[in-house]
Amino acid sequence: MRENYEAVIGLEIHCQLATATKIFCNCPNTFGAHPNANVCPVCLGMPGVLPVLNAKALEYAIKAALALNCTIAPLSKFDRKQYFYPDLPKNYQISQYDLPLATNGWLTIYTEEGREKRIGITRLHMEEDAGKLVHAGSDRLAGSSYSLVDYNRAGVPLCEIVSEPDMRSGAEAAAYAQELRRILRYLGVCDGNMQEGSLRCDVNVSVRPKGSSKLGTKVEIKNMNSFNAIQRAIDYEIDRQVAAIEAGERIVQETRLWEENSQRTITMRVKEGSSDYRYFPEPDLPPIVLTAAQIEAYRSALPELPRQKRQRYQLEYGLNAYEANLIADDRSVAEFFEAVVATGAEPKPAFNWIMGDITAYLNENKLKITEIPLTPAALGEMLQLIADQTISTKIAKDLLPELLSQPLAGTVKDLVAAKGLKVMTGAELEAIVTEVINSHPKEVEQYRAGKTKLLGFFVGQVMKRTQGKAEPQTTNDLIKAKLEN
Ligand SMILES: [Zn+2]
Repeated sequence: MRENYEAVIGLEIHCQLATATKIFCNCPNTFGAHPNANVCPVCLGMPGVLPVLNAKALEYAIKAALALNCTIAPLSKFDRKQYFYPDLPKNYQISQYDLPLATNGWLTIYTEEGREKRIGITRLHMEEDAGKLVHAGSDRLAGSSYSLVDYNRAGVPLCEIVSEPDMRSGAEAAAYAQELRRILRYLGVCDGNMQEGSLRCDVNVSVRPKGSSKLGTKVEIKNMNSFNAIQRAIDYEIDRQVAAIEAGERIVQETRLWEENSQRTITMRVKEGSSDYRYFPEPDLPPIVLTAAQIEAYRSALPELPRQKRQRYQLEYGLNAYEANLIADDRSVAEFFEAVVATGAEPKPAFNWIMGDITAYLNENKLKITEIPLTPAALGEMLQLIADQTISTKIAKDLLPELLSQPLAGTVKDLVAAKGLKVMTGAELEAIVTEVINSHPKEVEQYRAGKTKLLGFFVGQVMKRTQGKAEPQTTNDLIKAKLEN
């Protein structure tokens, strides 16, 4: 029956901007400090204090908006959103209402069928975060014996990014949230850590009969702290709503919580109409005025974004779409890859080594690619040594753990030589020894006449022909055996 319905999904994402200080005061913006350590009269909402906008927070919000293809408003302003809850010390939140910083953007996702799909972004606005309540003995206010409040988070700069209801499945919504986080991380404006709440996602889901253009009653879902949870919560909710409609029930407009343990959504609160937040302009902050020249300066300073990198990797480096997606996922990995290719290495082996053995090592040791001693230059040199058959892939794999864990003193070639890794033994070596002996009949005669010091001469000739790859002891033994035969 689900195939007779279409889901309509929109996301509201709150992301904490990674500034050093809060949005309207100088308190540190850090996670994990002792409760109420990062507070001052401004973020506690004491009477008579004045907020001052953090210029860095504005810069980060503008960068995010431009990277999301939004139009930046030449004039935007802050408003007070009134509501009463203990996590909000002023009893209002400074946010943006009718004149947000940016509107009308989009980003591109890849659907499960591998198609590109553009998801619209309605608006991006700035606001301050609220504090955090800790409920004793329960996850929620209801059922706890008492609650504590921590205002360290109050006043942390946020961007709220509202999408158009353009998504049709849990997978599309998860892909949208992932691409959004990827873009924010590329810009360095948000660390995107969902476990610590620096990226929080609320979802609106409704269903309607296929072919209908009328929207169904929407339900909001909260409390998902991974992309996987977003996908599963939405798919659960679509099934629940379809089943309810098929059973002749009415969908109630409400907010539901995703329960990770039971893998279902449960009612949190039923909305009766939209809340009246009594928005009015914030009188203590001047409007944000941006000239076209200022906006263009920000735009031209944007780094290359994930989508551009993916396209370039396919065109310039010949990677397929899957490979390009994979290596462009993280900016520092992508930059490492590009630096390796810049040394002259072939893109495909560079991709394989980075996404294979190197990524496995990083995951195993919980390290980032910027935290290991291996440099792009060293990896590039190693790939060159493989390409010109100085070393085998097997030898390179043996060499890699050292390159990953210890700083390289000289070149990779030095290391290969020092470790005697480029060995040559067996039939290959024996053939060269035979060749050397056959091409020096005079020296063979002298040796056989008693000038055994000439052994060194033959070893030297073999080493010369094998570029030092011959294993010394085996070489000695082989030459002796042949000369004394
Ligand atoms: Zn403060």
